[in-house]
Amino acid sequence: MTPSTNVPTTLPESLPVSALPATTAAVAARGVSKSYGRGETAVHALRDVSLEFGKERFTAIMGPSGSGKSTLMHCLAGLDSVDAGQLWIGGTAITDLPDAALTRLRRERVGFVFQAFNLVPTLTAEQNITLPVALAGGTVDTAWLRQISASLGLADRLSHRPHELSGGQQQRVAVARALLTRPDVIFGDEPTGNLDSATGAEVLSLLRCSCREMGQSIIMVTHDPVAASYADRVVLLKDGALVGELEQSTPDAILGALAKLGA
Ligand code: ADP
Repeated sequence: MTPSTNVPTTLPESLPVSALPATTAAVAARGVSKSYGRGETAVHALRDVSLEFGKERFTAIMGPSGSGKSTLMHCLAGLDSVDAGQLWIGGTAITDLPDAALTRLRRERVGFVFQAFNLVPTLTAEQNITLPVALAGGTVDTAWLRQISASLGLADRLSHRPHELSGGQQQRVAVARALLTRPDVIFGDEPTGNLDSATGAEVLSLLRCSCREMGQSIIMVTHDPVAASYADRVVLLKDGALVGELEQSTPDAILGALAKLGA
């Protein structure tokens, strides 16, 4: 689906030129802070986080429990608001977008793959994959649907309902659903959390392939160093702040970096 040209892309006038996002970033955050609660009991979930997520890159967000991973993902995806800072998806500043424009941008330019597969049980795999496009009144690119289904190994499963599919196949349907609109970014929230390790490895390989072969940008939150090792890059959070990153890393190296953070 072609990204809407009607979504406002204006940047706040007060933003200095040096703070403009790199046009190459799929997603960018500048100086993002978010707290829950007020006063002495306030929890600073994100503290001045600045990050760019490259196009066609698979990035994992890691850190100890409570370090702000989920909060960061929700803010980056425009599902939650921030107290300070700016966020961009595909070059569009989302922080000040009106709700309707943000909802539309999310629908057209962001894909999600959650731990729970979130498939509609009464619909076939194909109907589940095309449901978001159908709900948005769009037209399904059937050639792209066939290509995605083939590369995810779903070509002969499209008429099956979720209960007739294995967990790995259900998650592959969810991945196909996310890929169908060719979004600027797919967010994965512990996408292999409900799968055994062999099936999880299969889904992670497919996510990596969708980056390398289809040019898809992916940002995944996980606590699993093995899952994170499939990513091109791992960014590390602690106490709501960005504290490091690793490139093309192994599970052992990621585990070591987490251990240093006290995870
Ligand atoms: P992670 O995903 O790394 O475990 P979270 O982003 O869920 O971390 O949480 C970061 C911090 O913000 C934690 O201290 C958590 O308790 C707090 N937090 C998250 N969501 C809320 C909320 N809705 N209300 C209050 N505190 C929250």
